Amino acid sequence: MKAVVWHGTNDVRVEKVPDPKIINGRDAIVRITMTAICGSDLHLLDGYIPTMQTGDILGHEFMGEVVEVGPENSKLKVGDRVVVPFTIACGRCFFCDKQLWSLCDNSNPNAWMAEKLYGYTTSGLFGYSHMTGGYAGGQAQYARVPFADVGPLKIPDGIPDEKVLFLSDIFPTGYMAAENCDIQPGDVIAIWGCGPVGQMAIKSAWLLGAGRVIAIDSVPERLRMAADQGKAEVLNFEDEDVFERLRSMTGGRGPDACIDAVGMEAHGATLDAYIDKVKAAAFLATDRPSALRQAIHACRKGGVVSVPGVYGGFLDKIPFGAAFQKGLTMKMGQTHMMKYMKPLLDRIQRGEIDPSFVITHRLSLEDAPNAYKTFRDKKDQCIKVVMKPHGRATVH
Ligand SMILES: [Zn+2]
Ligand SMILES: [Zn+2]
Repeated sequence: MKAVVWHGTNDVRVEKVPDPKIINGRDAIVRITMTAICGSDLHLLDGYIPTMQTGDILGHEFMGEVVEVGPENSKLKVGDRVVVPFTIACGRCFFCDKQLWSLCDNSNPNAWMAEKLYGYTTSGLFGYSHMTGGYAGGQAQYARVPFADVGPLKIPDGIPDEKVLFLSDIFPTGYMAAENCDIQPGDVIAIWGCGPVGQMAIKSAWLLGAGRVIAIDSVPERLRMAADQGKAEVLNFEDEDVFERLRSMTGGRGPDACIDAVGMEAHGATLDAYIDKVKAAAFLATDRPSALRQAIHACRKGGVVSVPGVYGGFLDKIPFGAAFQKGLTMKMGQTHMMKYMKPLLDRIQRGEIDPSFVITHRLSLEDAPNAYKTFRDKKDQCIKVVMKPHGRATVH
């Protein structure tokens, strides 16, 4: 089959690789009909995430048709149409029982790597380094889905792929970020970062009863999308003093909740050994962590700071004193996907939201190497890329 394969920093290729096979009884093989590039994939491209190996298949946002099912999997049948969540969960452990799916104890075969860093491992992830299991990803024509009787969500016929693909990550991720804000009717929610997750968080904040949504970014097309599609009030942090503006917009009190959706994987993924290298590289030490600092600083007393962006390591100069003195609640973590996918599919079916509004580029798998660069460089007004791994795609 064809797949998007990582070969090193800034070296992503489309190659022929062996087809995946059933390994465990609960596995399924999915023929992928649509897949996407995520903002967090860029940190693999840029080489910031450790424990990647040459030959790793990328991608964690995908959907398709079940073509083979393991003997112990009684949930799926050949021919089922499914969206696959980016986290892998066993469905049977202490954490899965508590619906803390992204903290599953049994799905990361390389748990020892994560334990060294975090004390305990989180769940396995598709296409996201060996520290999270080394699972082959979904920017490919086929993928093996482990514990496929737990994660994949069946999709009824008649709904186009584009409408449901983002149930694999960014829609639940943006939604959980908003839910973590414990929104009361009329609350003011400020969201840093208007990439795909930020856009989903904006929509979700409205769905959950926000009274005002204020979106902060500097990329014109992202701000435009937040305003036009998301109906958010927008601030460009390059033009305005964000704290002062937020304070004056909220009668001197500050937003009730602040969401950091900038996506700081690149900064946060710094292992001990990586910190020096990253600091030397110099382009991570300023802007990106400033969003989290600003969110803590700007949040009203007793408010919530919600962090959907992925952190992996150690952060400098986070104003913990401000968080303590103002009595803030901070919530974060990888999305507990299986808790959200079905209810959010219901919302899509009821017509409350159509997540496909973020798509700016529709490409084929062969276009992946260029698409990664276009997305990374925010060129061509690129906000979200989807790809069809089989056959030619229409050009955007
Ligand atoms: Zn993603
Ligand atoms: Zn589990």
